[in-house]
Amino acid sequence: MTGAYDCDVLIAGGGPAGSTLAALLAKAGLKTVMLEAEHFPRHHIGESLVPAVMPVLKESGALAAVEAGDFSIKRGACWTTPSRYSDTALKTGGKPFRHVTTHFSERIKEDRELAYTYHVERARFDLILLQHAASQGAIVMQGVRALDPQFDPDGVTVTARSGGANGVSWPLRAKLLVDATGRSTLLGSKLKHKVHDPVFNQYAVYNWFEGLDRSALTPSEEVADYIAIHFLPDRNAWIWQIPITDTITSIGVVAQKNLFREHGEDRESFFWKMVGQRPEIEDQLRAAKIADKWRTEGDYSYSMQQICGDRFIMIGDAARFVDPIFSSGVSIALNSASFAAKDIIEAVAKNDFSKPAFASYERTIRRGMRNWYEFISLYYRLNIVFTAFAKDERYRYDLVKLLQGDLYDEDAPAALVAMREIVTEVENNPDHLWHPYLGDLKAPTAEPMF
Ligand SMILES: Cc1cc2nc3c(=O)[nH]c(=O)nc-3n(C[C@H](O)[C@H](O)[C@H](O)COP(=O)(O)OP(=O)(O)OC[C@H]3O[C@@H](n4cnc5c(N)ncnc54)[C@H](O)[C@@H]3O)c2cc1C
Repeated sequence: MTGAYDCDVLIAGGGPAGSTLAALLAKAGLKTVMLEAEHFPRHHIGESLVPAVMPVLKESGALAAVEAGDFSIKRGACWTTPSRYSDTALKTGGKPFRHVTTHFSERIKEDRELAYTYHVERARFDLILLQHAASQGAIVMQGVRALDPQFDPDGVTVTARSGGANGVSWPLRAKLLVDATGRSTLLGSKLKHKVHDPVFNQYAVYNWFEGLDRSALTPSEEVADYIAIHFLPDRNAWIWQIPITDTITSIGVVAQKNLFREHGEDRESFFWKMVGQRPEIEDQLRAAKIADKWRTEGDYSYSMQQICGDRFIMIGDAARFVDPIFSSGVSIALNSASFAAKDIIEAVAKNDFSKPAFASYERTIRRGMRNWYEFISLYYRLNIVFTAFAKDERYRYDLVKLLQGDLYDEDAPAALVAMREIVTEVENNPDHLWHPYLGDLKAPTAEPMF
């Protein structure tokens, strides 16, 4: 099938990945259409960013609008664990938990500003990015779902549908289709490229709290607006604490899905049961006011056997999803949009939309996602290593690089190589002091998933 094209590039999905790509392509003069199934603003999970989003926001031209959005500034991250020793409170300056804190400003790259980023209310953040894409000349259609892509040698035709099952449908033809549909994985599901992760199958229950005393749950007043991750005694379970405004804090419990199934009660009681494992956190939450409704997310991880092919590319969550413990999702979404834009602009110029035209995108984004995945896997496997690295001057700088999300330029970031060696040593030596601390989520960290 040939025929006239409605656009050069059709993007399905207007989340951070789709909107950023739409802005970049429209800015470069490509005729770009983006279909978004929902009407924005709409709720979305994923409120804490990492600094690696900042250069991409600058590149797409959206940074000024995001800065004007007055979001909460994020300058670092801290982790707390229940204290086991009676003198810990004294040692840690009066806090009833042990903790580690890292500051993004510890690692400044001259050419890229990675010292801070934002915590965002996603409804507002995503709307800003979507409106920015439109302001750059992309045609943005909200409330329009992309369905049933049909590929032929000359292009791709998608059915656009507005207004639900009985709504209006029409065909849209493009030279290239970009799947940015997030965890709906439009193409990955249709082409059967999706591979469920054998290890990470987590579940999250979350809400917003008003008036929470954040400084009571962080090491000091100065870092009260950092993201805090609080570990629970249940293996692989943790709580996120994300400042949304001066008074609103997002709190979520993440745990293995089977724990939730075993619990068998409603989501709210599961939340309180989990939080109750850290009485000092429960006390502060009970003193605050619940400010939104209870929400849940199954967040099983997956990868794709193929993330690009003749006349298609997948970006953001549509290409891969990894466990959210290090707030990687939006950063992967934006960086994948940035890498994809470069190959797409060249493909349009050369009128070559075959899979090899997207090789540089595939190489770079797979490398970054593999690094994220390994970081997360090593962390779940032996999180004591992470704590040790954060306290050791030899490793701390490289660890901050990972936490900034700056991990697309190297196959083997120094901190990951060192962590992997230590974890392997501990796994192979049952007498190792840290052997009892090995977690039960054992991912094939050293090998690619695909
Ligand atoms: C429990 C949990 C906690 C998380 N915490 C964080 C965090 O703190 N920080 C972080 O960075 N990330 C976090 N994430 C991940 C984050 O939510 C995602 O990685 C991020 O939203 C991906 O952006 P995206 O643009 O790829 O997809 P999305 O943001 O999901 O956008 C996809 C868009 O596509 C639209 N769509 C879907 N199907 C169609 C269709 N057929 N046609 C048209 N439109 C369609 C959807 O309506 C949606 O707006 C978390 C995820 C989970 C599950």
